[in-house]
Amino acid sequence: MSAHPHVDAIVLGGGTMGSATAWELGKRGRSAIVFEQFHHVHDLGAHSGDTRVFRHAYWESPDYVPLVRRADELWMDLEAESGQRILERCGILEMSAHGLDGPQASIECAVAWDIPHEVLAPAEVRARWPMVNIPDDWTVMYSPVAGFLRTVPALRAMMAGATANGVTLRAHEPVRDWGATDQGVWVDTAEGRFTADRLYITAGPWVATTLARLGMPLHVLRKTLFWLGVDDAAAFDSARFPVWAAQTAAGGFYGFPVIDEFGLKCADHQGGHPTTPGTIERTATAEEAAYIVDEVTRLFPGVNGRVQRAAVCMYAMTPDAHFIVDRMPGQPNVIIGGGFSGHGFKFAPAVGEALVELGENPAARPMPILAIDRAVLAV
Ligand SMILES: Cc1cc2nc3c(=O)[nH]c(=O)nc-3n(C[C@H](O)[C@H](O)[C@H](O)COP(=O)(O)OP(=O)(O)OC[C@H]3O[C@@H](n4cnc5c(N)ncnc54)[C@H](O)[C@@H]3O)c2cc1C
Repeated sequence: MSAHPHVDAIVLGGGTMGSATAWELGKRGRSAIVFEQFHHVHDLGAHSGDTRVFRHAYWESPDYVPLVRRADELWMDLEAESGQRILERCGILEMSAHGLDGPQASIECAVAWDIPHEVLAPAEVRARWPMVNIPDDWTVMYSPVAGFLRTVPALRAMMAGATANGVTLRAHEPVRDWGATDQGVWVDTAEGRFTADRLYITAGPWVATTLARLGMPLHVLRKTLFWLGVDDAAAFDSARFPVWAAQTAAGGFYGFPVIDEFGLKCADHQGGHPTTPGTIERTATAEEAAYIVDEVTRLFPGVNGRVQRAAVCMYAMTPDAHFIVDRMPGQPNVIIGGGFSGHGFKFAPAVGEALVELGENPAARPMPILAIDRAVLAV
């Protein structure tokens, strides 16, 4: 018998998707508890580093476009509710070196879904953005409706909206075990057993451990982020400089306008070493920095290559890099949001909404591309 009152829902993991799920549960007036093992908003999981790319022309699959359009509406709702600036629409430049795929799939997606975009010749790019140095044989797409999300205000605003509607956040309280029957769900923490009608598992890079009983083929990648010095910060401000992605012979790189004293934030999307949340090396190495500095200073000569900040983060990967947003097989009161594979943040409020809908509406179906019974997840 639990000493704690039974609630409608428990959320296991109060990071990106847990905060979004909590916001949705709060909007629906549900009684809910969010368990977070660390502080709410921290730099030990998948959401560290202050900013995330937001874009609609989705090269990964056009199936994501309705989800990102819904997320766009919900980010705007969150800005209105919180009075905070969360999404900066400074545009994105997607660029690729001659002979590489680069933005072709994004261009096709933008055409098919009527997403504002321009296909630009490199000379036009250099004229409009003099800080960009690309050769004449590159392919470039610019989308003005893209930009970046500020992660800290985004997560705080979603959780504030949730708690204002009665959701309880229990930070620094790891879930040690959980279970489900047809009657309901339970989780155990150091404070005892908590019960609910439904459990939402949004454990980020810890999802493989949390879902070990499913034996799913998830893995975690260690990722590094760097902030490089710029000679003229105003030239790289979001009023003049967009988010960018560049496919070169060395890899797939991306970065952001300068928003603080640390300079131009940049990273590579393709690399990364397998790790686990318990064993990850949390300090970036000089070799990792050199690899990024080399490419980014070539693309943007105004970047001076001085590393002013570095961070380490984790991607929770599925085999096909598509998410899992679905009910647990045979246990419809356990709903999983995991495997966001390094591109989930932009969708967060729409994912939170989809998870709660799957939990509460038996007729709701997962998006096929995100379903847990797709072939690559079979064990
Ligand atoms: C370097 C990097 C760059 C990225 N860039 C982009 C980008 O530009 N655009 C984009 O859209 N996405 C991007 N992403 C991806 C995006 O940030 C992630 O997909 C998203 O943050 C995943 O959210 P999550 O809720 O699954 O994980 P998290 O935000 O890490 O949340 C999981 C939470 O669960 C908690 N938890 C785990 N186990 C337990 C337990 N047993 N008990 C209690 N709490 C627990 C953790 O402490 C954590 O707070 C990037 C990711 C990284 C790492």
